[in-house]
Amino acid sequence: EFVNFTDFFNRIIDRFEMSKEQNVVFNRKFSKQARFVEIDEDKVTQVLYNIISNALKYSPEGGTITYRLKERGNMLEVSISDQGVGIPKDNLLKIFDRFYRVDKARTRKLGGTGLGLAIAKEMIHAHGGRIWATSEEGKGTTIYFTLPMESVQEDEWI
Ligand code: ATP
Ligand code: MG
Repeated sequence: EFVNFTDFFNRIIDRFEMSKEQNVVFNRKFSKQARFVEIDEDKVTQVLYNIISNALKYSPEGGTITYRLKERGNMLEVSISDQGVGIPKDNLLKIFDRFYRVDKARTRKLGGTGLGLAIAKEMIHAHGGRIWATSEEGKGTTIYFTLPMESVQEDEWI
């Protein structure tokens, strides 16, 4: 479907904000401006659920999760940053592999199967986008992904 990603993203963040049990602050750093993408809403919802669930799972008490949208050429870049434990540099690519989990001891008590980001990667690639992570140990993690944007050309609608 043809979707205004700005509204779609806000609705998903709203749902997490209403149901979260952790003491974590949500900071939305993007304008209300419409940004159009052609996506399978169910699949991209699942991608965002996986990423935001991780951000919450690894956030410290009182931490902030920051949401951003940026237009880079014809791609929309979405990012979700947390202030959690972070991920060692050597593992930044592996977290997108099936069943891969950093530090089995640490993550065992937090639960999960290690599939969330592998599924997210498959779905973003199927949409023609990319997904990657940056992180600083002890300071936090940012997950980025891109989606091709649709330019709304007025004359197409005449
Ligand atoms: P599942 O998503 O299947 O419930 P999971 O969360 O362990 O399990 P992924 O979402 O694929 O699996 O993440 C893989 C691993 O990457 C995690 O186990 C964790 O070690 C690391 N990771 C992912 N997101 C973060 C984050 N925001 N901060 C720190 N580590 C993270
Ligand atoms: Mg996960």
